[in-house]
Amino acid sequence: MADTRRHRPTTVTITGAGGQIGYALMFRIASGGMLGPDRPVRLRLLEIPQGVAGAEGAALELQDCAFPLLTGVDVSTDPAEGFDGCNIALLVGARPRGPGMERADLLAANAGIFGPQGAAINAAAADDVRVVVVGNPANTNALITAASAPDVPADRFTALTRLDHNRALGQLSAALDTPVGEIRDVTIWGNHSASQFPDVTHATVAGRPVHEALAERLGGEAAATAWLDETFIPRVAKRGAEIIQVRGSSSVASAANAAIEHMHDWVLGTADGWTSAAVVSRGEYGVPEGLVSSFPVTAQDGAYRIVEGLSLDPRARARLDASVAELDEERAAVRALGLL
Ligand code: NDP
Repeated sequence: MADTRRHRPTTVTITGAGGQIGYALMFRIASGGMLGPDRPVRLRLLEIPQGVAGAEGAALELQDCAFPLLTGVDVSTDPAEGFDGCNIALLVGARPRGPGMERADLLAANAGIFGPQGAAINAAAADDVRVVVVGNPANTNALITAASAPDVPADRFTALTRLDHNRALGQLSAALDTPVGEIRDVTIWGNHSASQFPDVTHATVAGRPVHEALAERLGGEAAATAWLDETFIPRVAKRGAEIIQVRGSSSVASAANAAIEHMHDWVLGTADGWTSAAVVSRGEYGVPEGLVSSFPVTAQDGAYRIVEGLSLDPRARARLDASVAELDEERAAVRALGLL
């Protein structure tokens, strides 16, 4: 049996905890699905007043699960309480785009959520705090959160592109009729939006270049390139809309699963190859410093590190540049509003 006494409880804060993704996250976290079977967790569920009943109801259900790893659950509407002693923050609650809402309105509404949360993290979180933003526009929300927490190192702030990464793996697995576990080194570059660039240039399947395997299966190089450009990239980038169309509501379990995998790997390390995460750029691959952009990353010793030195052909470079330009515009819009 796992010895849970070796570790002090990890305090995990979930914002928007009364919502759907929050509900899909907390039971897996409390049962050890994020940090492993030997790490006790304490959950802090943060909500706005309208969402608090959902979080309180979920807290009752958590109690009824009697998870041995769960040492406590607090529900709060106060960020100072919600982030008190926080080791891991999953920032899920965000303002969705309403009818007729312009991008500047959306960015401003979310800055009003993520700015104060960053300040509360700065004041109250534990020294080793790690933050992943799920609520959209996730990259720019992460940028605002980091900017509002000047005493916390920038590399503790990330945004979720692991769902896009997993979606890319799923599409390749189906197209190549190969288990996901055989596919390595796919990359999501840029923004978690339709402009993202899912890249298989360096990806392999059972040790072979993915492009070569696709060419064999689809009848040549040109067919493989066409499939990547016309089917794979748009399908991964627009998968959220496809789920809404088929399911009648947005993706929830897969988003929660990706957030759990993102944190699991950050804390416990990546295994073979790399994964994708949006992290604060220090200028890697020409991405302007300070933008929160998705990169190929590995995790060791509790830190994500960008995989450097990968070649990008002109077409890949153009796709990455287009997505980064969108991130730059979002940052400029937030600055123009005086929020950064
Ligand atoms: P969900 O739990 O379904 O989604 C929450 C956020 O995750 C949304 O902003 C959504 O952005 C984003 N998201 C990111 N990736 C995905 C994905 N792949 N699929 C779906 N969503 C994704 O929303 P609910 O409305 O059920 O719950 C949100 C909760 O947050 C509410 O209970 C609300 O009260 C709360 N809230 C809390 C705040 C706080 O704590 N300060 C602030 C604002 C809200 P998008 O919709 O753009 O896809």
